[in-house]
This record gives sequence, structure tokens and C-alpha cells, in this order.
Amino acid sequence: MQPLTFADVTVERVVEAEGPGFAPGFLLPDSDLDLIAAERDWLEPHFFDPATERLIQSQHTFVVRTPHHTILVDTCVGNDKDRPSSKAWHHMDTPYLEKLGALGLAPEAVDFVLCTHLHVDHVGWNTRLEDGRWVPTFPNAKYLFHREEMAFWEEHGDYVGQGYGASDGFYEDSVLPVMAAGQGVLVAGDHAIDDRLRLEPTPGHSPGHVVMHLDSGEGRAVFSGDMLHHPIQVAQPTWNSRYCWDPEMSAAARSAFVERHTDSEVTILAAHFAAPTAGRIVSAGSRRRFQV
Ligand SMILES: [Zn+2]
Repeated sequence: MQPLTFADVTVERVVEAEGPGFAPGFLLPDSDLDLIAAERDWLEPHFFDPATERLIQSQHTFVVRTPHHTILVDTCVGNDKDRPSSKAWHHMDTPYLEKLGALGLAPEAVDFVLCTHLHVDHVGWNTRLEDGRWVPTFPNAKYLFHREEMAFWEEHGDYVGQGYGASDGFYEDSVLPVMAAGQGVLVAGDHAIDDRLRLEPTPGHSPGHVVMHLDSGEGRAVFSGDMLHHPIQVAQPTWNSRYCWDPEMSAAARSAFVERHTDSEVTILAAHFAAPTAGRIVSAGSRRRFQV
């Protein structure tokens, strides 16, 4: 993704991993290959790999700089984490911090970390391993967690499996150490971070999922987390991912989100859309597509 500028706010992306991954039927159990084929004219080449028939996805962090603050949105899987449920995520070793450094960003300079929700691929770099202990990666940051999302994981943090987000211990190694260090802040779902950025509660994919709106006065964007996992869901908003917590609520929230942003000026910045990542939802007759 090219760096984006919304008046005095900039947005950049740090990629942890990217490429063809899931077969459509795995990530999106309700999906239909014929209906996907009908959208391949715009899904290729960025979002669908014809050679493997796999969805192309990414996991990344958005780096947002306003005149007041530097904010990271979602922190991927992280290095060294024990993730036996996923071969690709088990004990990852990527140059994520070096990539942040290449943007001129030292860990100490991050003011806020926002996790749109507490799933294993959105919290990983909250912490890093130091002398055998998990410590906050960003020592001066406040980590913002939606109160309702936290309440859910306080009860289900030891859950292992794939329904409502594979856990594999992320709550213990990537959330609790942040709270223990006094850097976690529980916020309401409509919390305003500053005069450019505010949250909106969007439960469904998880109980306390939030999106973050950017309004610079001269340009708007929405960091949509896992409201949409893949651009095909712009065309088929009722297709849930296998990791959605409440299927009905998730499909309804996604459908309303797509409807509201169709043909709007708002740039959509989703947590797993592969490069070039940023785009808008546009209509063409009765069809909708994601235009990069
Ligand atoms: Zn995710």
C-alpha cells in the first residue's frame, strides 16, 4: 500500500505476512465457487490467485499519525508465540519491528495501540519475549481495548479451538501482560482517541469488535478490522468467516457496513486485504465491488 494522506493525517502499513492462503470454502464456509468466479474480473490479480484458486490475504498493522498521536491499529500474530493450532503462526520470526523502524518509528514513539478485537492475529505484537517473559512491545503506549471485548475474553481466554477465534493462549501472552504493566485502558465502543479518530462498536465477528473512523476534515477512512475478511464479501456481504462469533449479527453488521459505504468517499482499510489494500466500495448496476 502506498502511504496515504488525509490532510494532516498519514496512514502506512506494516506487513507481517501476505499471499495466497485459504481456499474460499475454508475461510468462508457459505461461499460458492460459481459466485466467486463471477467476480474474478475485479478480484484478480490482487485478491484471488487463479493458479492455486486461493484467496490472497494479508496480516498487517496500520500506522496512523495525526498531528497529536501515533497509533497502531491491530498487531498481527507476533514473534515467538506458541500457536500449535496454526503451522504458519507457530513461533513466527519476522522482521516486523525492523519494518516499523524503516518507517522511522521506534517502539518508544507509539502513543496508542488499538486492537479492533481480541483475536490471535490482532494482538500478537502487543508483547514480545524478553528474558523468557512477555513484556509490552511499545513501552510508552496506552493499549485501547473495548470493555465488552475484554469482558468476553476474561471468561473465554483459555478457550482452544476455532469457533469465535482460535485462542492458543493469546489472552495470556498478548493481553494480560499489557494489563499487568498498567498500559491497558478499557474504553467504550464509541471512544474518541483524538479529534481525528473515533471508534464505533460493530459487534458480530466478536462480541466487542470495533471499527475506527478517521475524519481529517478533508478526507475520511474507516479501519474496518475483520468486518470484512476478504473483498469478495463486498459482493457477498452475508458470507461469514469461519471465525465469526455470532453468524446472524456478523452478517447483518457486514451488510449494513457495505450498504453504508457503497459509492461513498470513505476509504476502506481492512485488516486482511492484500496490497494495494486501500480502496472504496463502488456499485455497478446491482453489483458491488471493491475498487483499489
Ligand atoms: Zn483477523
